[in-house]
Amino acid sequence: MSIMKKTSEQETGILRFLMLISDYKFHIMIYSIGVVHTMFLILFAVLHVTPMVAFNICSVLTYIICGFMLRRPNQLFKVFFITYLEILLHSLAAAICIGWQFGFTLYVLALIPFCYYMCNNLVIGKKKYILATLFGFIAFAAYAGGRMVILFRPPVYGLSLSPISEFFIYMFNAVCTCIFMIVFSLIFLLEIHISANKLHMQNELLEKLANTDPLTGLYNRRSMQVFLDHAMNSPTDFCLSMCDIDDFKKVNDTYGHDAGDIVLKEIAEIMKQQMDGHGYVCRWGGEEILILSNVNPEQTRSIMEKIRRNVANHIFIYGEKLIRCSITIGIAAHRSGAVVEDTISSADYNLYHGKRNGKNQVVLS
Ligand code: GH3
Ligand code: MG
Ligand code: MG
Repeated sequence: MSIMKKTSEQETGILRFLMLISDYKFHIMIYSIGVVHTMFLILFAVLHVTPMVAFNICSVLTYIICGFMLRRPNQLFKVFFITYLEILLHSLAAAICIGWQFGFTLYVLALIPFCYYMCNNLVIGKKKYILATLFGFIAFAAYAGGRMVILFRPPVYGLSLSPISEFFIYMFNAVCTCIFMIVFSLIFLLEIHISANKLHMQNELLEKLANTDPLTGLYNRRSMQVFLDHAMNSPTDFCLSMCDIDDFKKVNDTYGHDAGDIVLKEIAEIMKQQMDGHGYVCRWGGEEILILSNVNPEQTRSIMEKIRRNVANHIFIYGEKLIRCSITIGIAAHRSGAVVEDTISSADYNLYHGKRNGKNQVVLS
């Protein structure tokens, strides 16, 4: 049990950390692209490719501005579009200036899944599929078009680099493209995981709201009906105990309705604790509680007696007021083949028998 708890605590810790990264993913992406462009800037300066030096100075400045834009709300689509255009133009310009073999066009291919990811995040409705495909198609057209241009016309700067230098520049671009794609694929998986988790938690909450009583946290009548149907269909006998707080009107009249609520909640807590693993406790209506127990009548009587004693000995505290209370319980054993409504009526009958005979007692006929 404690190992399971530890694992789920660790999992939530990791999840929280990943969610934090996910919150800053666009900032991380923009600044990373800015850093890569600073490296290109140095590379092109070393290679004396002046137009690309100028281009990369503009690119670095653009990403600094994008970083500032991200601090303001609703700027994400603009930042995405600027990034998209910048990557397309930079790749083409690099290919035209120094040739295809350095791998600057690889970034254009990485743009395609990125377009789908961003449109999925930023565009609502069916439009996102059209827009993402359009962006993806333009990226591919730029890639293929650029390749064709280079086919018919030599690069502007005929660099004479050693094959090993060419290889390193190509590998640098390939690694950057790969990291970019892996990181975004991981973020995508993580976001699916987070939304599945959220959905699961929301479902659990909805189920709890639908099946329990908000004041006491006990099962409501609707879920008790399910337990009763299930118990009816199983071969084992069970008992039903109808509980009612004694003179509860007086508690409300003397201490107020809020004090009554506290008494009701604490009695429900006592019942839940005592019944843990032995059956189901349900708020049947008002201050009446129905308990389904999966043990024989004598065992049920002994559990109910314990509940009655615990309630009678409990001091309910409301502000500075100390309140004492008691409950009366009527038990009926359900025999297989009987109608459950009849068993409930028998429990009710025993309860009122207990009420007539002085309250604060458990009655089993
Ligand atoms: P008895 O011993 O015969 O059961 O007397 P009683 O005063 O408890 O009478 P009864 O069971 O008929 O009274 C039910 C009262 O319970 C009336 C209603 O105001 C109160 N009650 C029902 N639900 C709630 C609730 O959620 N909160 C509070 N504070 N009171 C409730
Ligand atoms: Mg009542
Ligand atoms: Mg009552």
